[in-house]
Amino acid sequence: MKETKDYKPESLMMSHGYKPELSEGAIKQPIFMTSTFVFKSAEEGKAFFEVAYGLREKEADENLGLIYSRINNPNLEIVENRLSLWGNCDDSAIFESGMSAITTVLLEFLKPGDLLLYSSPNYGGTDHFIHHFLDKIGVNTVCFDAKDSKDEVIEKIKQTGKADKLTHIFVETPANPTNALIDIAMCKEIANEFSATNDENVIFTVDNTYMGPIWSNPMELGADLVVYSATKYIGGHSDLIAGAVLANQELMIRVKTLRTFLGNMANPHTCWLLSRSLETLMIRMEKQQSNAIEVANFLSTHPKVKELFYLGNLDKNSKTYEIYKKQYNSPGAMISFEVKGGEKEAFTFLNNLKVIKLAVSLGSTESLAQHPASMTHIGLAPEDKVKFGISPSLVRLSVGVENAQDLIEEIGLALDAI
Ligand SMILES: *Cc1c(COP(=O)(O)O)cnc(C)c1O
Repeated sequence: MKETKDYKPESLMMSHGYKPELSEGAIKQPIFMTSTFVFKSAEEGKAFFEVAYGLREKEADENLGLIYSRINNPNLEIVENRLSLWGNCDDSAIFESGMSAITTVLLEFLKPGDLLLYSSPNYGGTDHFIHHFLDKIGVNTVCFDAKDSKDEVIEKIKQTGKADKLTHIFVETPANPTNALIDIAMCKEIANEFSATNDENVIFTVDNTYMGPIWSNPMELGADLVVYSATKYIGGHSDLIAGAVLANQELMIRVKTLRTFLGNMANPHTCWLLSRSLETLMIRMEKQQSNAIEVANFLSTHPKVKELFYLGNLDKNSKTYEIYKKQYNSPGAMISFEVKGGEKEAFTFLNNLKVIKLAVSLGSTESLAQHPASMTHIGLAPEDKVKFGISPSLVRLSVGVENAQDLIEEIGLALDAI
């Protein structure tokens, strides 16, 4: 018999982790709308709690018994088991939002006095948490960007005077909205170097929302933890908010324990929707990618487009292209480009879209367009907007699963309206 590991994840997404015989033979999992679970005996309840509270290790053939839906729930377990197949890792944890996945990781692996190294630009919510919460609890932070070499990053860490307290590296790559790439292997080397001299190991997390889990696996490139806004590609239908963390067993136990006590797990209905979404994850992302390649090719020669930022159109002699080849097996489906002119011209373009919706978020079945400088990245300091190329004429496009020719025609008409 073929074992689970012998199948590709897309073959297992409809069935893995669910036993129809436990649910009246229903081919699809019911939604387990229950807060608590009945124990067969007091002895069983005791045994479940011993494992849940870490008082003893699980037996080899023992599953964590169902106790209470903040700790676990069948819908939560099924989607976690399935997502772990895509990440090719021990375990994953689903959260009620991408932000709760990210903040739980940062809270678990940082304490007052520690130093966090992070890449910039990063998601606005992550940036806000770093600057307006972590500083309040006495965590020191230092940032670097895609242009910095390894020596320059190390110099920045040393200049804080807290290099011996570096315990966490958090990077987001490709960076939103311009697709700037952070070298994951370089970050791993930095983590290893400081782990060797510091009292504590440096834990390294990658936010892979833009490319995962299909187009890149940061764990295979050296990351200890991978985080996602599952609201984006994983959910993929603009109908839910959720997050995910993937890691090996040792780190995952810590993340799940903190989740149990923060109580920020996803609810059964969201988990059910996510399982539905995972069934089509690969075909959706493949279609989005092929559409994006066609759209980017159209934009690359359009007279109203000043500059295009898409991983499929990189200069093959650039350092970015080298990193791209190492880290990704697809250029993805996120495009940004500058129109000729400024905010007025960018707004004219956006206001003339029809099938492509004017909304933030990304990775969904429908194409989405927005204006980073006045929307997702409005909170950035003016000098940072300049530094990271978030100009008034920049538009960001998340390409969906529509017909590529329809998208190209619509984009062409909207550009002509400028
Ligand atoms: C959307 C997003 C987040 C936040 O996720 P939510 O699900 O909105 O909480 C974090 N990181 C990246 C890269 C994102 O795009």
